[in-house]
Amino acid sequence: MTSKPKLKIAVIGSGPAGLMAATRLSNDSNVEVQVFEKRKGLGRKLLIAGSSGLNISHHASLDDFSAVYSGWSQAEWKKMLGAFSPQDWIQFIEKELGLETFLGTSERYFVREMKASALLKRWTVLLQARGVRFHTQHELADFESNPQKVMLTFKDVPETFLFDRVALLMGGASWLGEEGLEPAWASIFRRKKIEVTFFQASNVGYTVDWSEAFLKEAEGKPLKKILFSSPRGSKLGELMITAYGLEGTPVYFYGTSGEVQIDLKPDLTLEQLEVKCQSVRENLSPIRRIKKVAGLSDPALALLFHHADEAAKKDLGQLLALVKAFPLVLKEPRPLSESISSKGGVALSEINERFELKKYPNLFCGGEMLDWDAPTGGFLIQASVSQGFLVGKAISESTRDSAD
Ligand SMILES: Cc1cc2nc3c(=O)[nH]c(=O)nc-3n(C[C@H](O)[C@H](O)[C@H](O)COP(=O)(O)OP(=O)(O)OC[C@H]3O[C@@H](n4cnc5c(N)ncnc54)[C@H](O)[C@@H]3O)c2cc1C
Repeated sequence: MTSKPKLKIAVIGSGPAGLMAATRLSNDSNVEVQVFEKRKGLGRKLLIAGSSGLNISHHASLDDFSAVYSGWSQAEWKKMLGAFSPQDWIQFIEKELGLETFLGTSERYFVREMKASALLKRWTVLLQARGVRFHTQHELADFESNPQKVMLTFKDVPETFLFDRVALLMGGASWLGEEGLEPAWASIFRRKKIEVTFFQASNVGYTVDWSEAFLKEAEGKPLKKILFSSPRGSKLGELMITAYGLEGTPVYFYGTSGEVQIDLKPDLTLEQLEVKCQSVRENLSPIRRIKKVAGLSDPALALLFHHADEAAKKDLGQLLALVKAFPLVLKEPRPLSESISSKGGVALSEINERFELKKYPNLFCGGEMLDWDAPTGGFLIQASVSQGFLVGKAISESTRDSAD
């Protein structure tokens, strides 16, 4: 008896979603998996994310976890994240890749070595050992599908490839570098009448008109333990002062163009600050009095000194009010090329509950190329691997259906 030929599966994109789809698929003995990546190297964005400390997931109940996402309903997110949960992801990294993880401050999970290079290396070695083949410098240029097969063509590659199923996990529109404002796949999709919603920068810094004198003292320094408030909400955390403005999680969560406020001392009330300042016996200026008792950092004091108006600087009451609610105007968000993630992408109405493109059977789609978003804090990578897993699972189940 001759054994049945293996079903051929292509995974397009070597980000966390693509690698997790390949991982799930390579568990099946009846499929052959090939990963195609347009760049010379694999997982570029994962490596970029790792350059500022690889925050792989978040510690929260599934209810709280699923509440941070846009796109699907909270119940749908909960189901998705439950299918490949933060615990599953951490366990995969620890047990299958042999890397240590830890829970850091603000409930974020990190890999111990903070960078993504070892994770990426061990992951590709694991996949190669399971028989997955990688093709770099293969940029998907077009696809066609019928109920049996999917045909793929790649830029500057004469050969046409035939597959039984294809997973498209080509990422969003942030940090594209020389590629421009939209990933090239977006125009292929639009040409094929698949709706791709407009891309916008998300999880991004904002510009602020800082004075030169302030920047001289504070550029590159953090405003630690502040409470940031905008009309969209309030968040405790740390903000980084940059030449152009502000970066940091509170701004990524609730930044918006217009007036915002920063509480430079959220752990003390205005009354407590007043009592502390009045206890100073020396005849000091309001700012020196505050410096002596409020425990403000140098960049916070520089903000008061260089950006409070002159009348407030002479009046302790007014200056203390500014400590508790310093008004700033956020101008425009930084561009997509600098943002951590993007809003927009393949409209969710284009896929069914198995992540399969409704107009192109046997092609599945997931990860950041879909139109969903979340704040930073490990939520983006977690959703990408959960969806990569689900795409892999859906393909695996569909091949089993067709084998019956
Ligand atoms: C500066 C920065 C910091 C970040 N920090 C964090 C963090 O701390 N925590 C967190 O959770 N997330 C973070 N992220 C976001 C995280 O990196 C992404 O959410 C995640 O990489 C998305 O995974 P993905 O697999 O969907 O897409 P991607 O990682 O973008 O992978 C898609 C892959 O597809 C390839 N591709 C695209 N088009 C084609 C084509 N036509 N043919 C073949 N291949 C193609 C791309 O080259 C890419 O390798 C950060 C992002 C940035 C930019």
